[in-house]
Amino acid sequence: MQVKCMMCGKKEGITEEHVDYRKLQKNPKAVYICNLCMARTFHEAKEGQKPHKPM
Ligand SMILES: [Zn+2]
Repeated sequence: MQVKCMMCGKKEGITEEHVDYRKLQKNPKAVYICNLCMARTFHEAKEGQKPHKPM
């Protein structure tokens, strides 16, 4: 199945093994985020929780 990352716009083919496969199959408008953007988002969220960086 072809999906498009909502963050970077990259098109990817996913298989039934993908976590979001069923969700996207049921609802093609469901949001898909590629692994790279997922990792980036996670990293940014983690960074955002940190107190101010020491200079
Ligand atoms: Zn992406």
